[in-house]
Amino acid sequence: MISLDSPIWKKLDAAGSDTDEILRDLMEGKGEFRENMECLSWDLSHQGSFYDATAYVLPHLAILCTRISLEDRAFLIAEIGPAIAAEAVWPLEPDTEAYREFQEGLTGLRHETEKLVMNPDIAAILGNNLWQRQSFALSALAVLGNRMHAYGMMLLLERDWEDCSGACSCGWEEDVISFRTDKDYLCMEPASIASWDGKSIEVEPVWFQDLLRRIGDEETVRFLPFAYGTCACPDCGKRAAYWDWLAKFIGYGWCGG
Ligand SMILES: [Zn+2]
Repeated sequence: MISLDSPIWKKLDAAGSDTDEILRDLMEGKGEFRENMECLSWDLSHQGSFYDATAYVLPHLAILCTRISLEDRAFLIAEIGPAIAAEAVWPLEPDTEAYREFQEGLTGLRHETEKLVMNPDIAAILGNNLWQRQSFALSALAVLGNRMHAYGMMLLLERDWEDCSGACSCGWEEDVISFRTDKDYLCMEPASIASWDGKSIEVEPVWFQDLLRRIGDEETVRFLPFAYGTCACPDCGKRAAYWDWLAKFIGYGWCGG
């Protein structure tokens, strides 16, 4: 963890210029916690981009998580998830200080997020607002699961399962795919997602689907098997996972998996 007094903070990228000052206020309990978290989140996830300040912020947030209420902890995770997910698209170079900070922070946040996902009262902890509940679920996916899938899920929900994108390795691409009306055209086959045992977060769609059920997000549960399913290319006929189509369309740092 890099001290907030280090000169490096003034050199790090973020959408705002006062990320270190907001983080200092959060760590010292100055000002309104949720307001500060929202400012920090805006600084680090503006326009779905990745900013290297995120890597240095995460170890501090992991410590902060251990000092605040369950409700505020869930809020913190929900706010920082989009910044974490974006690393999938602009991946950090291994063997760099930023990479080590990112991994250190993620390890601490994983511990706290896993406990929240396992908590049978998570829906009540998150409150009645479905948007807030969804934000937490997507952010939990970014922290505990595949960050590219989390980035993809954030796009799918933002576009209400319409206007989604995909590209085949043959060069065919489509920037307006509807999960509501294009299932036959793209021969979309849903993945079979088993029931969760309530204990393990090993199989991503399994615990994620259960979390969505517990927060009452039936619409996302309905489309989830298609997001984790496969499609067939209308040009070459090759079948691929939708996540691979989306990653190919987005380009940048995706390297499979
Ligand atoms: Zn193709």
